Amino acid sequence: MNVTEAGAREARRYHVTGVVQGVGFRPFVHRLAMRHRLGGWIRNASGEVEIAVEGEPEDLQAFECAIRAEAPPLARIDGIVAEDDAPAGREGFVIEPSLDEADRRQPVPSDVALCPTCESELRDPANRRNRYPFITCTDCGPRYTVIEALPYDRERTTMRSFTQCPDCLAEYRDPASRRYHSETNSCPACGPRVWLEETGATAPLAGAAAIDRAVELLKQGGIVAVRGMGGFHLACDAISDQAVSRLRGRKGRDAKPFAVMAASVEAVRRLAELTEPEAELLRSRQRPIVLLRAAAGSPVSAGVAPGLDSIGVMLASTPLHLLLLDGVGGPLVMTSGNLSDEPIATANQESFRRLGGVADAFLLHDREILTRADDSVLRMVRGAPVFLRRARGFAPIPLELPVESPVPLLAVGPHLKNTFTLVHGRTAWVSQHIGDLESMQTLRHFEATLETCRRLFRVDPEVVVRDLHPGYLSTRLADQQGVERVIAVQHHHAHIAAVMGEHGETGQVLGVAFDGTGYGEDGAVWGAEFLLTDLTGFRRIAHLRYAALPGGDLAARRPWRAALGYALVDHAARPILAPAWAGIPAVEVELAEQQVEAEVNAPVASSMGRLFDAAAAVLGVRQVSQYEGQAAMELEALAGRRIASEYACDIEEDGEGGWIINPVPLLARLAHLRRRRVPVEELAADFHASIAWMTADVIRHAAERYGISTVALGGGVFQNARLLDSVARRVEQRGLRVLVPRRLSPNDGSISYGQAVVAAARLATL
Ligand SMILES: [Zn+2]
Ligand SMILES: [Zn+2]
Ligand SMILES: [Zn+2]
Repeated sequence: MNVTEAGAREARRYHVTGVVQGVGFRPFVHRLAMRHRLGGWIRNASGEVEIAVEGEPEDLQAFECAIRAEAPPLARIDGIVAEDDAPAGREGFVIEPSLDEADRRQPVPSDVALCPTCESELRDPANRRNRYPFITCTDCGPRYTVIEALPYDRERTTMRSFTQCPDCLAEYRDPASRRYHSETNSCPACGPRVWLEETGATAPLAGAAAIDRAVELLKQGGIVAVRGMGGFHLACDAISDQAVSRLRGRKGRDAKPFAVMAASVEAVRRLAELTEPEAELLRSRQRPIVLLRAAAGSPVSAGVAPGLDSIGVMLASTPLHLLLLDGVGGPLVMTSGNLSDEPIATANQESFRRLGGVADAFLLHDREILTRADDSVLRMVRGAPVFLRRARGFAPIPLELPVESPVPLLAVGPHLKNTFTLVHGRTAWVSQHIGDLESMQTLRHFEATLETCRRLFRVDPEVVVRDLHPGYLSTRLADQQGVERVIAVQHHHAHIAAVMGEHGETGQVLGVAFDGTGYGEDGAVWGAEFLLTDLTGFRRIAHLRYAALPGGDLAARRPWRAALGYALVDHAARPILAPAWAGIPAVEVELAEQQVEAEVNAPVASSMGRLFDAAAAVLGVRQVSQYEGQAAMELEALAGRRIASEYACDIEEDGEGGWIINPVPLLARLAHLRRRRVPVEELAADFHASIAWMTADVIRHAAERYGISTVALGGGVFQNARLLDSVARRVEQRGLRVLVPRRLSPNDGSISYGQAVVAAARLATL
């Protein structure tokens, strides 16, 4: 009856799938095997990690449980398949060379910010990596931005060009070390180098002297281009008005807010109001920019976020950034290293060419950035984060599709804030933020990232999905893929499908899509749409009354034109709305009116973004914008946390079972109250409350008439936390279920995923 006698050894093979490469998984399994006295091996394969072990049955069982229970923090195990094997008398445990199979695919790990252990080593004078700007371990460091191909091994990353010194190699081979099989392992003796090139200086400074000089320049109000993990930042002293205004002047004339980097959560508390979940988000391994409410008496220069009550803050994501912050001793502006709307610079030579007129010095290194990744941006809404931009730290972790696609897909996204999505089966890889497809540089960024992702994820698309708009550059890109089958998806359908998809919703919902611009099925500019939606199609049941946008695209930066458009649909309201274009030269206003009358370059629109613009103009907040969405952001900032009153829009039956919403009475009411000197802050809050009320009202009517119990909210206007919160709350109070975008942005960054969801559903039901 002795089951543990010699010869009772059992052997097993495991196939583990998920995010299991580049996350310290092999060393972790090695330690587990040693602990449980098992012999065998582990290796990275293309779609999984394979483990072969043998030992006593109870040890094998304990080992199997521990794989799941104790997995490293960065790993995500999707599945473990176990099969029995024949014992081969294996003693000891080894990591075998990686196996590559051409038809397998697997997740690529995202980049990880400096971990606490590496941070303390960085600051420890006795450590051999003290102040070494490229310190990493299996728990931290670059991944996606340096990986050329899979399986994940040093020779397929840009770390290939650095050969480990004996000390590093010893760590790499020591199962007890945190750097056991750490593919980015390096030290000052063998790893990447940092140096500073300064305008007017004769020779570059290297190593610690380079960082010290960069710190000195920053303290003196200089602008330093810093090569980071996914690209360049432009840095300057965030406290100094002079430094900030010089950066703004050199970078371009616009007023877009800059992000600020601080050394610790404690340092952030001096700049912004901070809840515990926000602090957690700041400290998370993705280290995103978190949009926070600016603190009263914050020392940060007003030029960082002009006209706004919020500030985007992040903690250092790399050791190099942390060394700069430590040296300066205060917060730094850390904004994208680009000019206006171009992609951020990634290569050293490229940075001279593109940022030469902006930076006083360049802090460079020789660890090449293979894939560009901007900083991610999030804000907390209703107790959970909402993406404003999804990039570094999050891409390219895949999302699931609510239905399996029968063929591999590529969805190319819309036009602004573009991303693309590759699909195989139920897996959707959504690219990092690419940018506005308006310049050659962004186009090249799109194409290069697509090529990398096609190689990494091994997707060879058989169907391409695009927007309905015939003139978008993305439409041309779709046609150029050399794929016969192209599917077009309406913009707002894609917005709602994206929200449905991330929540796994496959039934019918009432979708509410509020945004700036999307090409409608009737050729008009849509943007405040109530859609009875399922994954394959939709019926438009309510929208804002059409108003002309004199000047077309120009109107997006001229809020007064949106207001004039409304005045021209309801001539009785014209005198009361007139303050919206007060001070604009009469000839310009007349020309705009003629455009509307002649229907030349004056498309009609039902856009919520333009209604926010119109309200801002009517209230005298802004007649001309410097960037898209500026007026809406300022209205939100003015509204703050004020209690508000609600004023009605006209909601009329359209005779086909739906509704048309006329916002002119609301605009007129606000204009009237403004004339009676009601503070603009109060009226900005009233405007938000009125829109939320109208939205909830239409939802109530529609839910009753069409028997709907679930509402999905999407579109860039829902980046407005006040509006998103207030609409969601009202919908829930009526007993309806509400879905909001959580894993992707409400804005057009989610469109490519939504396009993929619709196409997969259509192809699956054929
Ligand atoms: Zn680390
Ligand atoms: Zn070394
Ligand atoms: Zn949109």
